[in-house]
Amino acid sequence: MKPLDLLAIAAHPDDVEQTCGGTLLKMAEAGYRTGVLDLTAGDMGTRGTPDLRIAESEAAAALMLVKWRGNLRFPDARLDNSIAARMTLAGKIRELRPRVVIIPYWEARHPDHYRAGELAFEACFLAGLKKLDEETEPHRPFKVIYSSLYANVIPSFVVDISAQFDRRMQALLAYKSQYGDGQPGSDLFPSQTEIRERLAAIARFYGNQIGVKYGEPFVVKETMKVDDVVTLGPRTF
Ligand SMILES: [Zn+2]
Repeated sequence: MKPLDLLAIAAHPDDVEQTCGGTLLKMAEAGYRTGVLDLTAGDMGTRGTPDLRIAESEAAAALMLVKWRGNLRFPDARLDNSIAARMTLAGKIRELRPRVVIIPYWEARHPDHYRAGELAFEACFLAGLKKLDEETEPHRPFKVIYSSLYANVIPSFVVDISAQFDRRMQALLAYKSQYGDGQPGSDLFPSQTEIRERLAAIARFYGNQIGVKYGEPFVVKETMKVDDVVTLGPRTF
């Protein structure tokens, strides 16, 4: 397979649709090869089954125009940053050879989310070690960026997803077992209207920070490099 330009790694199917799906779609529209790797299939979820969640995630992937989507089926709600998990993930990174990897921010309420970030970061490093596995070629991503939407932190940058927002919403609603109205546990789960309003409010909040309608926030650990300060946005006044 041709190497991916951009790979998003997340704990649960539908995390990517909520945190960086607009960015993935925007990059695919720009001609980049994008992919998604979900670590668990949501086997502890109240609604649906792992197989159903994976089938729904494939429908969502088609809407986001990703070239590849996979699921490692690690245990949901008890994701563990073990050597075995890191090695499996590092093997997958060597196979997919992404230039840039989006991973979850390192602090979160849900333990799976921060553990997925930690596990993915360490696997990206391991994937670059020649002697990790003599059978496969080493590959270390050029850049790791953190999707920070679940964390209430100031982003390093925001991507304008105004043109991708509706399609990202359709991708999220492709998880009919999770977001279909009138499913078992409806009193516990927000309605589609509620979901739409909530996601629009969050995307609007971040969009507002860069002077556009909808945005997705990211954090990077390195200082951002700028080549052209004349075209630098957003505007000050
Ligand atoms: Zn999640």
